This record gives sequence, structure tokens and C-alpha cells, in this order.
Amino acid sequence: MFSRIKNIIMQQCDIKDIKPGLVLRYFLYLCAVILSCHLISIPAHSSEKYSTQQSSTTYQDEYTYANYQDVSIEHAYLDLAVNFEQHIIEGFVDLTLNIHKENTDELILDTRDLTIQSVLINTNNQWVNAKYQLGQTDEILGAKLIVNLTNSFNKQVQKVRVYYQSASHASGLQWLTAEQTASKNQPFMYSQNQPVHARSWIPIQDTPSVRMTYKARIRSNKNVLAVMSANNDPNTPKDGDYSFTMPQAIPAYLIALAVGDLHFQAMSDMTGVYAELPLLDKAANEFNNTQAMIDVTEKLFGGYRWGRYDLLILPPSFPYGGMENPRLSFITPTVIAGDKSLVNLIAHELAHSWSGNLVTNETWRDLWLNEGVTSYIENRIMEEIFGESRALMEQSLSIQHLQHQLTQLPANETILYVDLGGKNPDEAFTSIPYIKGQLFFMYLENAYGRAVFDKFLVQYFNDHAFKSVSSDSFMTYMEANLLNKHPDKVSKKKVVEWIFQQGLPTDTLKPTSNKFRLVDAQSHLLLNAQIKVNQLVTSNWTVHEWLYFINNLPRDLSIDEMITLDEHFDFTNSTNDEISHVWYLLALSNNYRVIMPKLEQYLLHIGRRKLIIPLYKALVKSESGFNFATKVYTQAKPFYHQLARNSVEMVLNEAKLKY
Ligand SMILES: [Zn+2]
Repeated sequence: MFSRIKNIIMQQCDIKDIKPGLVLRYFLYLCAVILSCHLISIPAHSSEKYSTQQSSTTYQDEYTYANYQDVSIEHAYLDLAVNFEQHIIEGFVDLTLNIHKENTDELILDTRDLTIQSVLINTNNQWVNAKYQLGQTDEILGAKLIVNLTNSFNKQVQKVRVYYQSASHASGLQWLTAEQTASKNQPFMYSQNQPVHARSWIPIQDTPSVRMTYKARIRSNKNVLAVMSANNDPNTPKDGDYSFTMPQAIPAYLIALAVGDLHFQAMSDMTGVYAELPLLDKAANEFNNTQAMIDVTEKLFGGYRWGRYDLLILPPSFPYGGMENPRLSFITPTVIAGDKSLVNLIAHELAHSWSGNLVTNETWRDLWLNEGVTSYIENRIMEEIFGESRALMEQSLSIQHLQHQLTQLPANETILYVDLGGKNPDEAFTSIPYIKGQLFFMYLENAYGRAVFDKFLVQYFNDHAFKSVSSDSFMTYMEANLLNKHPDKVSKKKVVEWIFQQGLPTDTLKPTSNKFRLVDAQSHLLLNAQIKVNQLVTSNWTVHEWLYFINNLPRDLSIDEMITLDEHFDFTNSTNDEISHVWYLLALSNNYRVIMPKLEQYLLHIGRRKLIIPLYKALVKSESGFNFATKVYTQAKPFYHQLARNSVEMVLNEAKLKY
């Protein structure tokens, strides 16, 4: 019976091996999952049973091997050298342990492609060699490192030290040659840990359920500066030896390191930009609202608890828009548009200082708690700084994007509390946790009014500061602090529908932008041949209106119509990367090939997945497009981050079967 349960659990959890001690917990978890699946598939009137049944679903994060419920890391000290010649990081990490279960005899860490050189354990300041074992490698989870915690004195182990080296292809690190950077002076290296890539350069408990403080000593070439998600000192001299302290406890996915030809420019006493010189001024001008954004967020949702807030501008190969590494958000240069039109990204990364970094999703199934709250706060910040009209346009554009994705995603992936089913959590970052999550919080705001809902959020951040929250515990908390305190506004059944059911509820808010209505009116006249392109009144249009206009043009315009639009507005040569993106998509669906040389340059110089993957997908719809995409990708591949490579290769490999 025991081994049968174990086998079922291993299949369900996509885990290669499992400790006997965990079997009972997984068994209970499975029972709870079966109950909850059943509950979701039956009519929602039974949702009254929800809180009692769901409250038992405390379970192990399925994307870690760590036995963190028995022993967790409370502090990490990293002593690492960055080797640009070999593309490796080498050194050691000291992990200070917090034992939760008496007589715990092993520490299980996550690793991926690490070479483990030796492991020591420490009791009362004495280091001795430890027995350890590196498990088999799983494609998604990596390999577990089991460290034996028993020593000859049979005393409690307080620290573990691991000497190791990362692989040159570590999934969480990107190495760029000097030629691939903006200044072309020095090589560049940066980390991207979220969701499960910390383990590719640190042997660690790589789960958002475990928080730790950290210190680090990083050595590198003398001509480059190292920065981390920690206490960066703007006056640090470049000497190749850098020290950092992160006094607030954070999960491993928020430990971050970048090393390059970086310079600093202050934007206010507590904010500034790190960037390569060619981007430094432009970035500091573009993002000089950052202090104002912090001020309004503090006013709305309580104090900023992290000390400084700086931005690091990464090379354009960065696969995301931004990464909310605490104290130092990592930012794509594709949002430096010259007119602050894309700075909602900064509002987003800053908002994570409350939702995500301060209060963290417990597992990647709960990602919507990070991204949904953050997208909601992002839009509130934009409204405060740039006005309601812009906030509404940004909402409308996001919702259009969500509606498009809802037609593309399998139905079971349109649930906020998504079952990743063992899939790579890199693929969890769809519009669902972001925009469906945002719409849920907008729905609540609308039902309770801002005064009540803002107060609830402030209390939520205070009550869960520096803790992780699951969908289940959020539900319970919301029931006690919002639903029950203000009855007859939102039913529990409705909340269950939002969090646990597919698609969008029928009473989802549909915000409308008056500015977009005016665009619609003009588009209508144009498409019905009542006005010509040169009669469109666009002088007051912002980037948002242009994006909306292009997004909503028919996908079957004639070549002559495309030529006329391009002659008037020069979309093909736009310097705004978002406008280029939507124009190239329109051009590909209308077979307007004038864009091809520019599109090639775009794909060769940008590695942000949101901007390039839809273009690759559009290209492979025809054989000639597939051939073009394959040729461009071969050239772009050395510059793309591994995450982007994986995504592009998925598109190309699927298309290859057709041609
Ligand atoms: Zn985010």
C-alpha cells in the first residue's frame, strides 16, 4: 500500500523520488486536490463548503525538492567569483539553518547543472566535511543535493557550506560579450532567477515559500561593477571586489546579480539608475517620475520598506519587461521610448515592492497573487501620476490582450489558481495571472468602493509582510476581513468563481476609454471610405491611441492600403518598440513585405519575449515566413537569453512539422 501510494504521488507530482516521511503529507495533499477538483467541477452553490475543505491544502511547492517544512534556510552568505572567460560562477555559499523538526537528519537543496566540489557542516563554529549526495537530473526541477546533517558529536548542525561551480549554460545566467552590449567596452552578465533558476547558480531552497536574508562578496574583473538586489552604494568604486547586505528576508527567486560596465545616475535621494553609459541619461530622464511613483504608492498602500529603490537597465536581450528584484528592479531598455509612454512598466516593478516582494505567492500556482495585485496597483499608480484617461487606456489595451489570449489558451489554463500539471513554470506567465488577476481586484474595488478596498489591501500587506500567501489562505483572509465585514456586496460563490473557475465571470467590468471611442469613430470612417488616411485627426494621439488604432485595423487590408498608412505615418520606421511590434504583426497578416528588413533588425536586437514571440508565431504561418524566421533566429540565437531561445525553438519546432 505504502509503495503504491508513493508511486501515485510520484506520478502526480512529477517527482523522481520521495522521502517516506513526506508520503503522508502528499497523500493528504492529493486527497485535498481531488476534493477541490470535484468541488470546482460541480455547481458553484456548493462553494459554501469551500473554506473548510480547502483550508487543509497546505502542501509542498511542487517545483522544489527542498524539505523546507523540516529545516529552512534563514540566511545565506555568498562568496563568489564571476569568471567572464569561462562563463561560470564559482565559490561557496554558507547557509544558516532553522530547524523546524527535531532530529532532522538531512537538508535537501535544489541545484541545476552545478558542479558540487565539497560540502561542510558547522556546529559551534567548527567546520567538518559532510556526507552528501547529488540526485539524478530532472529537466525542470534540476537535481537535489542531499546533505547529511548528523555529525560525530550528534549536535545540532547550524550551518552548511557548499563549494561549487555553475555551468557555462546555467539557465539563470546570461553572459554577453562586449560586442553584444550598448557600450561595447566590457562583457555583461546578469541573473534571472524567477521562477526556478536560482538553483542554476546557487545550491538553495528554491521556492517562494522560504525567505532568507543574505550577504555576498562578489569578485570580478576590475573594470566592471557588480550590483545586487541588496544595499547597493551609488558611490562604490570599480575595484572588482564588492560586498552586499540584504537585511530583509526574501525568497531565492529575488536574489539577483548583474555585472557589467555600469554607471550610476541619481534621480532623487533614494532613487537612481544603473546603466551602460550610452543609455544612462536617456533612462534617467525617461524614469524621473520614479520618486513620485513611490510617494503615491506609499500614500495609497503604506510605507516602502526596502530602503533605496534603483533601476538597472539591462541589455535588450533581457527576456522580460522587468524583474522586480528588491531595491533594484531589472528593466528592459525597450521601454525607453523618449516620451514616458511605456513607464507603466516601472510602476509595475515598483508595485511589486508591496505585492510579490513583501507579500509573496507561496507557490507558482499562486502567481496571480503576485501579478494580479501588482497589475492592479500599477494601474492605480498610473492614474495618480498621469491621470484617469491614460490609466483607462492602459486597462483597455491590457484587457484586449487578455481577450486574445483567452481564445488561444487551453481552458484549464485560464484559471487564476492554475494547475501547472508539472509543466515548466516559465510558461505560467500568461495574461491570466496578470490581467484576469487585475480584473478580479478591479471587481472587488468596484463592489466595495476604494475607501474600503484600499484599507483592506493596506491591512493585507501589514498582516502578511515578509510572508508567503497561498490562494487558499488569501481566500480565508479575504472572507474574514472583507466579505464578512461588509456583507451582501460580494458572495463567496463569486470569489470562488474568480479564483477557481475558467475564463472570465459574465459580470467582469468592461472599462471603456473615451479616447479609444474617438479612435474607433475615426477608424470607422476610414474603413468605410468616408475619409482618407490624410484626413484622420491624429495630432493629439499618444502612443496608446496609436497602439489601439493599429491593433484594431482589419487583418485583410490591401497592399495599397498598407502602403498609404505607412507613407503617412511611417510605422515601419517607428522608434517605439511597442508600435513597431503591433505594426509588424499587422503587416505580416496583410503580407506587407516592405517591413521585412526592419523586422529582421528588430528580431536581431531585441530578446524580450513579449515582443518577439508573437512575431515568430506570425511568421511561421507561411513557409516563406518560416524560412525567414529560421534564418533570423540562427543569427540571433547567441544574443538571446536561454528563456527566449526555448520559446522561439518551441515555435519553430512545431512549425517544422508542417513544412
Ligand atoms: Zn510582475
